[in-house]
Amino acid sequence: MVEAPILPLTHLSPEEKLFRDSVRSFAKEQIGPLVREMDDAAVLNRELLRRLFDLGLMGLEVPEEFGGQGGNFFQCVLAIEEISAVDPSVGVVVDVQNTIVNNAILRWASAAQKARYLPLLAAGTVGSYALSEAGSGSDAFALATVAKDQGDHFVLSGRKLWISNAAEAGLFVLFANANPAAGYRGITAFLVERGFGGFKVGKKEDKLGIRASSTCELILDDCRVPRENVLGEIGKGYKIAIETLNEGRIGIGAQMVGLAQSALGHAISYSKQRKQFGQAIGDFQAVRFDIARMATELEAARLLVYNSARMRDAGMPFVKEAAMAKYYASRVAEEIASVAIEIHGGVGVTKDYPVEKLWRDAKIGRIYEGTSNIQLLTIAKKLLG
Ligand SMILES: Cc1cc2nc3c(=O)[nH]c(=O)nc-3n(C[C@H](O)[C@H](O)[C@H](O)COP(=O)(O)OP(=O)(O)OC[C@H]3O[C@@H](n4cnc5c(N)ncnc54)[C@H](O)[C@@H]3O)c2cc1C
Repeated sequence: MVEAPILPLTHLSPEEKLFRDSVRSFAKEQIGPLVREMDDAAVLNRELLRRLFDLGLMGLEVPEEFGGQGGNFFQCVLAIEEISAVDPSVGVVVDVQNTIVNNAILRWASAAQKARYLPLLAAGTVGSYALSEAGSGSDAFALATVAKDQGDHFVLSGRKLWISNAAEAGLFVLFANANPAAGYRGITAFLVERGFGGFKVGKKEDKLGIRASSTCELILDDCRVPRENVLGEIGKGYKIAIETLNEGRIGIGAQMVGLAQSALGHAISYSKQRKQFGQAIGDFQAVRFDIARMATELEAARLLVYNSARMRDAGMPFVKEAAMAKYYASRVAEEIASVAIEIHGGVGVTKDYPVEKLWRDAKIGRIYEGTSNIQLLTIAKKLLG
């Protein structure tokens, strides 16, 4: 038997390359001109959102029978990376939809829930993932939103905080505790439609970075959720919350790799064009070493992200690798964006150049979907037990 050749991780098949190139052109041509205006206004352009759906980028792993692309997780990573190289705020819209919301529904929803929600999510409904609250971030299972069992429906009360893309979302994968006496074993996932009585999207945060991606509070004031909208089993929501975030973290890693690639590209172009002491600054050894270090760290981050994504598609355990990918890519992205500003000198901190935004957008990578410390806890647990 002839074994298939082992290919480098960054080798793309002809289909992957075609897909990557088409997302790259779309991002450059259709997102590029909107970046500044969306960042200034802190609003996602609705027409752009429509185009993300039309191109199939919001339903990449959704099977074709439900109107999706029937693709794999690695494609999600390529799409998030390419879009984030142009605008990491748009990257997180595509990321949350594919790697968390669609992923949770594909994995845990009943046949009836899939038939109802997947076609909507592939065609125009933005999905949000609502786990965090004011008192429960890293300690996510300490959530205080409660769900009272009323037989054919549940009544949810509480508040969620920091919910990405909530201003645009029509569907929320939302976690509440149906049996607080049982602690985390009471946590249950619900599919909450925006129109359900007692549900409201609250205040939108005014943020440092990823400003075009809305981040909002959710208010549940005796919100009535039909029993058939319980996602997975009652009391098993903690498992859904933890396991979905494993893919989510690879997605954030991809967002950070795209962002870092963009910062490096801008640093290289500027260093070739800017002259001081009669020569291009890119001819000074110190600047060349900066760029060499940035490129090396970016390559390592991309390898971690691609490897964990390919492990996931291959059905291999990937929890440790996903945590490493997110931890490392977010660290490297922040550093690369910071050095890219320094290479630009004074103009680097102005809005006339794109690097200041990339640096602002990088900061969140070390916070959401588990802070860097939480990633280290996961990695250490896998190594030490
Ligand atoms: C822009 C944005 C978008 C977000 N999107 C979403 C979303 O869509 N859905 C959602 O559910 N949530 C979302 N979040 C919430 C996000 O996941 C949390 O902010 C994050 O998990 C950290 O929680 P926290 O803010 O409460 O910080 P805390 O948990 O209070 O952490 C504060 C500090 O303490 C450290 N720390 C805490 N516990 C430990 C420990 N055991 N060991 C070592 N250090 C520790 C942390 O690492 C951090 O440095 C978003 C947040 C932001 C800012």
